[in-house]
Amino acid sequence: MIPKTKAPRLTKPPKNCNIRDMIIDDEKLQRTLERAKSHTDSEVTGILEKAKQLKGITLEEAAVLLNVTDKNLLQKIFDAAKYVKEAIYGNRIVLFAPLYISNICTNECVYCAFRRSNTHLKRHASTMDEINQEVTALLKQGHKRILMVAGEAYPGGGLQYVYDSIKAIYDTRWNGQNIRRVNVNIAPLTEPEFEELKKCHIGTYQLFQETYHKETYEKLHIAGAKKDYQFRLDAMDRALQAGINDVGIGPLLGLYDHKYEILATLEHAAYLDKTYGVGPHTISIPRIEPADGSDFSQHPNDVLSTEEFKTCVAVLRLAVPYTGIILSTRETPQTRNECLELGVSQISAASRVNPGGYSYDKQNGSQFTLTDERTTDQVIEAIVDAKHMPSFCTGCYRLGRVGKDFMDMAKPGLIKTHCLPNAMFTFAEYLYDFAPEGLKNKGLKLIAETTQANFAEGTPIRKMIDENLQKIKAGKRDLYF
Ligand code: SAM
Ligand code: SF4
Repeated sequence: MIPKTKAPRLTKPPKNCNIRDMIIDDEKLQRTLERAKSHTDSEVTGILEKAKQLKGITLEEAAVLLNVTDKNLLQKIFDAAKYVKEAIYGNRIVLFAPLYISNICTNECVYCAFRRSNTHLKRHASTMDEINQEVTALLKQGHKRILMVAGEAYPGGGLQYVYDSIKAIYDTRWNGQNIRRVNVNIAPLTEPEFEELKKCHIGTYQLFQETYHKETYEKLHIAGAKKDYQFRLDAMDRALQAGINDVGIGPLLGLYDHKYEILATLEHAAYLDKTYGVGPHTISIPRIEPADGSDFSQHPNDVLSTEEFKTCVAVLRLAVPYTGIILSTRETPQTRNECLELGVSQISAASRVNPGGYSYDKQNGSQFTLTDERTTDQVIEAIVDAKHMPSFCTGCYRLGRVGKDFMDMAKPGLIKTHCLPNAMFTFAEYLYDFAPEGLKNKGLKLIAETTQANFAEGTPIRKMIDENLQKIKAGKRDLYF
C-alpha cells in the first residue's frame, strides 16, 4: 500500500532564476569566519538570548558561536540549543533505518569504499526478492521508515531499478506490518527524472553536498558524473521544481573546515527558503568514517573533536530551529546520546551499510565502518532512559502535511501538540508488538508520564490520546492525526 499525499503547494521560482549562482559565495564565507574569530562574551550571550526567541540567527552570529572555545560559553550554547529543541520538538526522537540496495558505483569519491577503483570490494545490487528479505528483517525490528541508499550505477542502466526498488519496499508485508515512508538518498537527477521519482511517493529526497568548498570538492571527486559540483549543488532546485516536497541537505564533515561547511549549509538552507518559500526539511551531519581501502578516510582533512561536533549540532539547532537534524550510526553511542539533548530530531538504529546487511549478506561490501553497533531495542532503551520519546510516526507525510504545509504547522509550535501524541501512538505499537518485557514496561511508563505532564486531564486532546492508547493496547494499529 503506497501512502496517499495531497498535491504539492510549491511556489515555483522563475525559470533561469539567477539567485542560484549565489548559493555559495566562498569569499563571503571566509570573511565571515575570519571576522568571527574576535568576539566578546557578551556578544555570545546576546546571540543566545536572540536564539531563544526561536526565530533563528544570522550567518554572522552562527560564525561567532562556531568560534567559541571557552568551556563556560560552550555550555551556554549547549543549554540554549537544548532550550530551543525542547520548546519546538518536545522530547520526541524519530527513528529510521538506512537500506543500502546497491554498492555498485561509477564515481570516484576518494573517501568512499564504493568508489569504482576499489576493485576488491564485493559488488552487488539487491534483486527485488532480496529487497523484500531486507525489508522483512527491518519490519521484524519494528521499523516503519526507511532511507533507501545506492551507489551511482543502476542495473539495466536507467532509473527503473530505483523506481522498482521503492515499490518493492512499499509492497513488502510481514505479519500485517509495512513500511510507511521511504526517503531516498541517491545521486542527483534531472528534473524529468525527479518527476518520475515523485510518482514513487517518496518522503524526503536527501543529498549531501559532501563539501561546499568547490576547490576541495574537485580534488576529492576524481571521476564519474559526481565530479560536477554545480550539478550536485543545483539538485534541490530541480527536485523542488519537479514537485518533490521535502528535501534534505548536509555536508560530509571531515572533507574541509567544519565551520565553513556549517555556514555553507546554512546558506544553502536560506537560499532554498528564500527561493521556494520552504527550507530543507532536514539537515544531516554525517562525519567521515574509515572506509575500505581509502587512505583519505583514515586521515581526513578536518578531524573534529566531540566538543566541536556537538557545537555544530547546537549551532544548527539555534540557526534553523524548525529544520530536522539527522544523526546516523556513524557516531558513537555516547556522542549520539549527548546530541539528543542538543537538538537532533532523527536518528538511525541498528544500521547496516551494505546490500544484504540485514538479511542475506551480513558481511560483505560495506560503505564504511559502523561506530554504533547496538540493536534497535538497545538504541530505543537508551532513548527511553534519557527520557526522550522514540517515534515511528509518518503521519504528516501521509496526511499531506509536507513541504511548506509542514513548516506552517511547525512554526506556531504545533510539533509538540501533533507530533508528540503521534509519537506516543507509534511507540506504543512498537512496545506491544516488538519490545522485550523490560523495555515494554519502561516505555509504557514513559508514555503515561509524558501524557500526564503535557496534556491536562479533561481536555479534548487528552481524551483522544487516552482513547487511542487504549485502542492500541486492544490491538488497533496505525492511528495518527
Ligand atoms: N551515491 C550517492 C551519492 O554519493 O550521493 C548516494 C548515496 S552515498 C552511498 C551516501 C553518502 O555516504 C554520501 O553522500 C557520503 O556523504 C557518505 N559517505 C561516503 N563515504 C563515507 C565515509 N567514509 N564515511 C561516512 N560517510 C560516507
Ligand atoms: Fe559512489 Fe556515492 Fe560512494 Fe561516491 S559517495 S563512491 S557516488 S556511493
